[in-house]
Amino acid sequence: MISLVIGLAVLSVVMIPLEARWPALPNQPRFRRGWPLDLVYWFFTTLITKPVSRVVVAIVLFPALKLSGAGTYAKLLEGFGPLGDQPRLDQALQMIVLIDFVGYWLHRWFHSPRHWRFHAVHHSSVDLDWLSAGRVHPVNDIVNKAVEAALVVSLGYSPLLLAGVLPFFLFYAILQHANVTWDFGPLKKVFASPKFHRWHHTSAQEGQDKNFAGLLPLWDILFGTYYMPEHQPSKFGVNDAVPEGLVGQMVWPFRKPADSSEAL
Ligand SMILES: [Zn+2]
Repeated sequence: MISLVIGLAVLSVVMIPLEARWPALPNQPRFRRGWPLDLVYWFFTTLITKPVSRVVVAIVLFPALKLSGAGTYAKLLEGFGPLGDQPRLDQALQMIVLIDFVGYWLHRWFHSPRHWRFHAVHHSSVDLDWLSAGRVHPVNDIVNKAVEAALVVSLGYSPLLLAGVLPFFLFYAILQHANVTWDFGPLKKVFASPKFHRWHHTSAQEGQDKNFAGLLPLWDILFGTYYMPEHQPSKFGVNDAVPEGLVGQMVWPFRKPADSSEAL
């Protein structure tokens, strides 16, 4: 809890000046629509989602341990086999690419009609800035972590090294939502930028179901979902009637559309 408060303070000191200096939407107020709920999500994720996700990952790793042939948890934690025997830097870089590739397809899976509501919660911020990165339904978060952990560990990579790589993805995701103009210029097709990801969040017809990659736009280029026009997106949110409060957003994905009174 203390580390979250310190982390948010540090992020504020870094991100707020960036958003003030290079705003994609200069007229967006600092205390814009939805910021209190986004902030609540940061605490909810830390206090609830994270501990639950640790338990789920431990359960998922059990069959991975059996199937992998690592023998013991200690061996599993160290990494094993030809991939786990490589130098740490090689393993870390390979894991980043692998997790990003799997993350691309998981993200597309969450955009399919059957699973969309769990992810629509994340898309429901109508004003977008770095704080919006925290608004994630626990099912969305836990499925991502469990799949990534199972895959990486089954292949023999060290999960301890994975734990070291994850903060990088977290910080990168925060930057991606920031209200800044950055498109990374000549590297715009190499690394996902805030402009790239903010187009993923647009509610406008253009940009729908585009830019799924977390880090490498290569996946979007390869699979036909890359979208990067000259102008910046200006409208965000979803066309579904996502409830506005935390409790409503927690239960909404579990309700059948016919059970709810909202117009879709
Ligand atoms: Zn999405």
